[in-house]
Amino acid sequence: MDWNRRNIMLSGGALAAGAIGLPAGAAGALPAAAAGRKLGYAVVGLGGYGLGIIVPQFANCRNSKLVALVSGDAAKARKVAADYGVPERNLYDYRNFDSIRDNPEIDIVYICLPVSMHAEYTIRAARAGKHVLCEKPMALSSAECASMIAACRQAGRKLMIGYRCHFEPTNLEAVRRARAGEIGKLRYFRSEHGFTFNNPNAWRLKKAMSGGGSLMDIGIYALNAARTMTGEEPVAVYAQETTDRSDPRFREVEDLIGFQLEFPSGVVGSCMSMYSANQNHILLVGDKGRIEMEPATAYRGNRLWVGSGRGEEVVPAPGPGATQWAGQLDHLAQCILQDKEPIVAGEEGLRDMRIIEAIYRSAREQKRIALQA
Ligand code: NAD
Repeated sequence: MDWNRRNIMLSGGALAAGAIGLPAGAAGALPAAAAGRKLGYAVVGLGGYGLGIIVPQFANCRNSKLVALVSGDAAKARKVAADYGVPERNLYDYRNFDSIRDNPEIDIVYICLPVSMHAEYTIRAARAGKHVLCEKPMALSSAECASMIAACRQAGRKLMIGYRCHFEPTNLEAVRRARAGEIGKLRYFRSEHGFTFNNPNAWRLKKAMSGGGSLMDIGIYALNAARTMTGEEPVAVYAQETTDRSDPRFREVEDLIGFQLEFPSGVVGSCMSMYSANQNHILLVGDKGRIEMEPATAYRGNRLWVGSGRGEEVVPAPGPGATQWAGQLDHLAQCILQDKEPIVAGEEGLRDMRIIEAIYRSAREQKRIALQA
């Protein structure tokens, strides 16, 4: 199976810890006046994810529409606008971005930029009076995450993080079955997430832009899934990093980092993150059986087995959207229309970021790090 980043996997996330369940506000549950309403999104950053994945997804949405683009490349923006029916008056660049405040067609700004730009654009969007959907990882540091949450709160706007797997049917089904006790008492969680990174010039390998290596980008899915699928918050982490620093790709950021998560119930999470091998797997082992997903957090083609092995494949019921991305885009729109908090609000990104910081510290200091409740 071809597991390269472009074709299937990329970051996936899992469902929000403490907020497990189906996203609030499926369109059918919206008040009649709001049911057919579509809120306008401005997509910021027309790169691999923004243009390649998100922009085409508005065709699958019930409560979201693409109304504006923000890009540093005017010719590209004009072409994308023509392809997707975005009016030229709604094209912005990074310098005139703040003038979105004067555009009532834009309700939500979706930030698909390198991590180092997430905090700045979230805060500028909130100050322009817009709600924000920001890609994962939320920011370079927990301090930045806190400032993004504060800016949105101060502006009275909602902030959601792009943990798309919280809207993905296979992940939702795995959580539902774990919660229903189908594998008995959970004993351990295991996940490996990685892909082979081949572009040595990419921003993801520059620490100032990415904040870190594989853990920030892809290992975050193992971490978020561990919290979501156990339904618990870890009380301590222990991590070990193994990176060949003579490899030109890994001069600034880590390749392989393994981390153990201790949960209050005694469940152990064992996770591996890497930029030098393709792997996308989640396993939950209980005293009565196992739940396994492989690939677990891919763009498509995720598979799930529940029972004693891989004998019985489970085909999940449809998720909350036509696709995981439509589910995600519509969820924020529906939360705004109903004044509800998104199931993966900024606080969820902040929780992951605090644990990521502890994982890096544990690897650096080679010791177990207790986490604050
Ligand atoms: P990318 O490099 O393909 O695109 C980044 C975009 O930002 C480009 O359009 C680029 O022109 C623009 N940009 C603006 N200023 C820039 C600068 N100074 N340096 C570099 N680029 C600049 O990256 P991507 O893969 O689209 O990732 C964007 C965000 O989306 C990241 O936060 C990433 O983690 C996230 N992402 C999420 C998923 C997911 O499944 N949820 C998948 C891929 C990427």
